[in-house]
Amino acid sequence: MVVRGGDHGTIPMPDARKRPCSICRHWFRPDPRVGARQRACSKPECQAARRKKTQARWRAAAANRGYARANRILKRNAAESPPEPVRVPAPLHRLPWDVAKDQFGAKGADFIGVLSILLLRTAKDQFRAHRIDPTRVPGTLPLAPAKDQIRPAPY
Ligand SMILES: [Zn+2]
Repeated sequence: MVVRGGDHGTIPMPDARKRPCSICRHWFRPDPRVGARQRACSKPECQAARRKKTQARWRAAAANRGYARANRILKRNAAESPPEPVRVPAPLHRLPWDVAKDQFGAKGADFIGVLSILLLRTAKDQFRAHRIDPTRVPGTLPLAPAKDQIRPAPY
């Protein structure tokens, strides 16, 4: 008898509480704590294979979400395809954007433009953070105190 897994199987079961393992196809009695959700028997190799399958499904789902996000960006680009390249602020406007458009196409040039604006904005934010509180930015050196301000540690 060929047993195929699945919740809607029409295979007559010898024992209603038993089900075929989705890995080794042997009939097993599900753990009552797991119940109908249990698809694999308790053999370690079946449990390991089951975990592997679940992880692969999660990875595939995550990849699909990534594709969906990329698709949304592409669709937005298509919908709002500007007739001229993205307007860039100084000093980016000094770059030869018409050359970029010729080289990479309108979309490529737009992407570079958006990327540049993003980097510029981030750099400005970082700079502002330094100005406001230099001690709070990780990776920056503490301000060196003047020699006469150095005191022994308070303990
Ligand atoms: Zn099994």
